[in-house]
Amino acid sequence: MNISVAALDGGKLKVRQTEVEELGTRLRGTALLGDPGNTDGRGVFNAMYTAEPSFTVYCATTSDVVQAVKFARERGLLVAVRGGGHSIAGLSTVDGGMLIDLSAMSAVVVDPERRLVDAQGGALWGHVDRETQLFGLATPGGFVADTGIAGLTLGGGYGHLRRRYGLSCDNVVEAQVVDAEGNIHRASAEANPDLYWALRGGGGNFGLVTSFRYRLHPVGPEVAFAACFHPIENVAELLGSWRSFAASAPDEVSSVFITVTLPENPHVPQPVQGRACAVMAGVHAGDVEDGMKALQPIRDIGTPIFDLSQPMPYTAVQSAFDALYLRGKLRAYWKSQYVDDLSDEVIGVLTDAALSRPAPLSEVNLAHMGGAIGAVGPEDSAFPERSAPFLAAFVGYWDDAAGDDECIAWARSAWDNLARFGTGRSYFNFTGLAGEPPSTAVDTVYGPNLTRLRLVKKAYDPDNFFRRNNNITPAS
Ligand SMILES: Cc1cc2nc3c(=O)[nH]c(=O)nc-3n(C[C@H](O)[C@H](O)[C@H](O)COP(=O)(O)OP(=O)(O)OC[C@H]3O[C@@H](n4cnc5c(N)ncnc54)[C@H](O)[C@@H]3O)c2cc1C
Repeated sequence: MNISVAALDGGKLKVRQTEVEELGTRLRGTALLGDPGNTDGRGVFNAMYTAEPSFTVYCATTSDVVQAVKFARERGLLVAVRGGGHSIAGLSTVDGGMLIDLSAMSAVVVDPERRLVDAQGGALWGHVDRETQLFGLATPGGFVADTGIAGLTLGGGYGHLRRRYGLSCDNVVEAQVVDAEGNIHRASAEANPDLYWALRGGGGNFGLVTSFRYRLHPVGPEVAFAACFHPIENVAELLGSWRSFAASAPDEVSSVFITVTLPENPHVPQPVQGRACAVMAGVHAGDVEDGMKALQPIRDIGTPIFDLSQPMPYTAVQSAFDALYLRGKLRAYWKSQYVDDLSDEVIGVLTDAALSRPAPLSEVNLAHMGGAIGAVGPEDSAFPERSAPFLAAFVGYWDDAAGDDECIAWARSAWDNLARFGTGRSYFNFTGLAGEPPSTAVDTVYGPNLTRLRLVKKAYDPDNFFRRNNNITPAS
């Protein structure tokens, strides 16, 4: 029997089912028709993307990845790569194409003496934190333990340690990459430095990363944590106070301002269940006692409905929101924009967006940047945004397809309103694509780094085989 598979040239190709079965027998992993979900039964995060691949190759080793890439290349098949599956834009699935799933490649090995961790390309942040915290060490990851390390790192990576230890991509010291021909490369400052440069912010454009080696830092086991929930009605005034806090916060503190309505859920403090709130939260990466003092100014702002601030295990902070953001349950469309100056006009735009959120879980999310993020120059890695002190994100979450138009329109309109005062530049990992091409805003995001990125793309993927990403086309 033949199956129809989407081709790289936009058409359809016939592949014999027996070819897929035979590929499966050659792997440590397997190959199955359709997309039965990750090896632990999980699919992609964003419920808007229900595309059905023709077949899925579950890779368990680098050799499996090489065989999968070669299988697709020889036949001209359109491929998507799934690391953690958290792409807001639905880039880790592909309608009718071939899916390469890495969820079986999630091994994590810590070298505490050298303060390094090796993590395979399908690992999640929860896997990494769990192992590194055994030694009181951590590398900057994301806010949700269920997010994949690969997509997050390749696109930059902001988390609770960002102002102290930089972006996730800044902490990559080496990666193993399978290119579009199935060749294996080591990428580091010494080996293939152009590829190493491009991987740190350039997304999954240059090959499939089978493993990352990250630098580790002493963090935990407890960190100082603050989270104060206020009535959303006071959002404008609170943003003004948080602006003052951010201006004098030490680099150990990474804080966020979020407006959201949390559900009636046992993981949510009872006083704020179902209540629209403005939340000021922060983590201090350092001594816990010093940290609680450094976070105290957040706690002194106004009169919170609820103050959750306390020393917390780092792993608890890292997974605090997991129960709210379950994969496959929420529809999501996000847009983001860096802000150079949190002016009164910007606060006005954010306030309007916060008060017009179309669905309870939809957030306006403002993150304080700076600190270690700016220690890397804009051209030292592919990730160019090093100076903006704030990132504003309009994080649309809703649970019913009937809400698609309203929620997407809300995020777009808030972004447009902010563009009058913001930088117009986005963070690619926070980009939703509802009918927009995956190359949207590549020019503005990468700016002067785009020319070099296109040259690296040409060297490792001249035919744009890896295109289900924020796509950088090869230099001609
Ligand atoms: C609930 C939630 C919380 C989030 N929190 C944060 C946060 O705190 N900080 C932050 O910076 N971002 C955050 N994000 C955004 C996140 O960084 C991106 O969605 C990221 O792409 C997720 O990586 P993934 O491996 O899970 O994604 P996937 O959906 O698997 O992949 C995303 C992209 O990367 C490619 N890719 C995946 N694995 C590989 C690989 N091994 N080699 C090459 N290419 C690969 C895919 O093909 C796709 O183009 C969050 C997203 C969600 C849904």
